[in-house]
Amino acid sequence: MLDGRFSRQSFLGDKSQDIVERAVVGLTGLGGGGSHIAQQLAHVGFLNYRIYDPDAVEYSNLNRLVGASSKDAEEVTPKIEIVQRLIKGLSPHATVLAYAQRWQDNPEPLRGCDLIFGCVDGFNERRELEACARRYLVPLIDIGMDIHTIGEEPPRMGGQIILSIPGGPCMFCLGFLNEATLAREGERYGDAGPRPQVVWPNGVLASTAVGIAMDLLTDWTRSLRDVVYLEYDGNKGILKPHGRLQYLSGRKCIHYPLHQVGDLVVNTESISFKTEIGATEELAFQGLIQN
Ligand SMILES: [Zn+2]
Repeated sequence: MLDGRFSRQSFLGDKSQDIVERAVVGLTGLGGGGSHIAQQLAHVGFLNYRIYDPDAVEYSNLNRLVGASSKDAEEVTPKIEIVQRLIKGLSPHATVLAYAQRWQDNPEPLRGCDLIFGCVDGFNERRELEACARRYLVPLIDIGMDIHTIGEEPPRMGGQIILSIPGGPCMFCLGFLNEATLAREGERYGDAGPRPQVVWPNGVLASTAVGIAMDLLTDWTRSLRDVVYLEYDGNKGILKPHGRLQYLSGRKCIHYPLHQVGDLVVNTESISFKTEIGATEELAFQGLIQN
């Protein structure tokens, strides 16, 4: 239903606001990226949310956590409350199922989503989330950023946005994830220290992710027909298709075959599925990743 509030976005199509209002969106992680995405989804008019974050606001979050105030840091307000406040401030009748826990501990609500936004930390958690989204046959839009310093060179700010659609190329197909990267991260776990994070690259990545979501839902550009893998160079302010896309051999994913449907079981060591016939099938990542 179009009304005055959304009249400036009617170019998205006659049914666009209905689609937006009916869509169920999942957000895993409500930090610098997730809070930005939530704010924009609320402005666009989304009404059904499933949001996850186990953490509360700290002073060190205030440099980037959209919607949080210094009072929130003082009162250690849960991040899900910040995001609920953002959404309800714009749409008081929105339905927000909010979980102050890791999504892995309660993935079931993600099953009912039309779209999941991944704003999680690290490669291993991205692998888990993508496996879950594939399992539930839900498109995933993942964003992430990092800042590296090498020797005496200026710090390098980078990031990525990946649209992962069940059946299409996954993060392994794209070369974003591989066995070596996952293993290296596993070894470093715990001694990484506080990772640098700032508000503006998160804003670029979150805005672009919301743009992809809107295109996916409304097809307003009539052009989004394939995998999306964008890389962000924060030093130059450039966002462009990732170079690895040209090496993509096929448009079908062998890592998450569509015939595997059932309940996801995520362990720290492996990802397995309880299949419809009751057997537990483990994804053979070791062999597949090398392809
Ligand atoms: Zn794949």
